[in-house]
Amino acid sequence: MAQQQVVILGAGHGGFQLSASLRQVGFDGRILLVGDEPVLPYQRPPLSKDYLDGKIGFDLLLMRPEAFYGDHRIELLTGARATGIERAEKRVRLAGGEALEYDHLVLATGARNREPPIPGLELDGVCYLRNLAETDELRARLAAAEHAIVIGAGFIGLEFAAVAGGKGKPVHILEMMDRVMGRVVCPRTSAFFADAHRRAGVEFQFGAQAVRIAGNSGRVAGVELAGGERLHADLVLVSIGVVPNTELAQMAGLAVGNGIVVDDHLLTADPNISAIGDCAVYPSRHATGAMTRLEAVQNAADHARCVADRLVGKPRAYDALPWFWSEQGPLKLQIAGLTNGYDQTTLRGSLEADEFSVFCYRGGTLLGIESVNRPADHACARRLLAAGRQIAPEQAADDSFDLRAAAMTRAA
Ligand SMILES: Cc1cc2nc3c(=O)[nH]c(=O)nc-3n(C[C@H](O)[C@H](O)[C@H](O)COP(=O)(O)OP(=O)(O)OC[C@H]3O[C@@H](n4cnc5c(N)ncnc54)[C@H](O)[C@@H]3O)c2cc1C
Repeated sequence: MAQQQVVILGAGHGGFQLSASLRQVGFDGRILLVGDEPVLPYQRPPLSKDYLDGKIGFDLLLMRPEAFYGDHRIELLTGARATGIERAEKRVRLAGGEALEYDHLVLATGARNREPPIPGLELDGVCYLRNLAETDELRARLAAAEHAIVIGAGFIGLEFAAVAGGKGKPVHILEMMDRVMGRVVCPRTSAFFADAHRRAGVEFQFGAQAVRIAGNSGRVAGVELAGGERLHADLVLVSIGVVPNTELAQMAGLAVGNGIVVDDHLLTADPNISAIGDCAVYPSRHATGAMTRLEAVQNAADHARCVADRLVGKPRAYDALPWFWSEQGPLKLQIAGLTNGYDQTTLRGSLEADEFSVFCYRGGTLLGIESVNRPADHACARRLLAAGRQIAPEQAADDSFDLRAAAMTRAA
């Protein structure tokens, strides 16, 4: 049945893409795109890269200019926070008291910063990097900072360190695990990035647990570690990951775990409610069907396209290949596939030349590829993995082996 009125909660990457894709695939009903941020939908990745660096302004972050929404009959509500879903009435409540009726509701509420359970988070100079407002504050504080501490050596913390280091600011990164980006890349890639950041002047402390942010007259003065050590800083970036925004779904009686639970069509147990992007946990073909929640633009945008197709009567199971990227100074990291559970890695290219790919295998099956400054490898990797094609570790390691030809070969 055609869905006449679609309400989308969250106007980030997934929400915006869904509104645009619905029109692209010919949806003719009403589209309401509801976002709690007070600005037009914008791209998040540059926040921790060129925008933080001051190389680009907000205009270049915009998904589309304002006229796009009117031209495509997308009713955009900014600064509007959804507070409840009344499933029986098929209605959403907003913080201002208004009610929006839907035929189909899509939850695209993303994720929010994870906060460590330590004292001192309220101090002036404790920053986060998730949205425009936080980035604007961080950008201003970075300009005046003399010494920054980053808690958490994930993508965001490392991207911040690259920008701050480029401005000549000393940066000290504290990480509980024993390596950088430990949840997403293999030890070889971690070690490469840690070395590159060290050469650029970043200091690391691994196995370090921050237990308190210390202050002086309400201002950040440093961070205390579990062992009693105290490090000085006038800016502390907390970047220890995110938690999915699942509360609306949970309050409405929908299943939530590490995200809003959806099936392989991205539908919740309620046939009138879907969930997409960072807030959704779904069975991924690329993780042998395991429930998976990803934080990536590709994931949010491809989820959106899949739901748009379903809402115009062309349902299909979601099976897009996951891929990610990060930019840290001169290093561009691109990851194709999900590498969890690999038992063998093979290097192609040269660590010394800062251009290489690590092929990750489990039981001889290629799971994913991490590439640094090798965009052609990444493009081939995506084709290979999406088609379910294999290359042997010996072929991957051999720089004369034609990866492109292997990626382009049609299955017999
Ligand atoms: C600084 C930064 C850098 C990143 N860099 C990369 C990168 O290089 N590559 C990459 O692949 N990914 C990157 N990501 C991740 C990527 O941006 C996210 O995976 C993507 O934005 C997820 O899209 P989404 O629509 O699920 O959520 P979001 O884009 O986060 O949008 C969710 C929106 O919903 C709003 N919202 C939440 N609750 C409500 C409510 N109750 N009512 C109304 N609105 C609500 C939120 O405020 C937000 O605007 C980065 C993220 C950040 C923060």
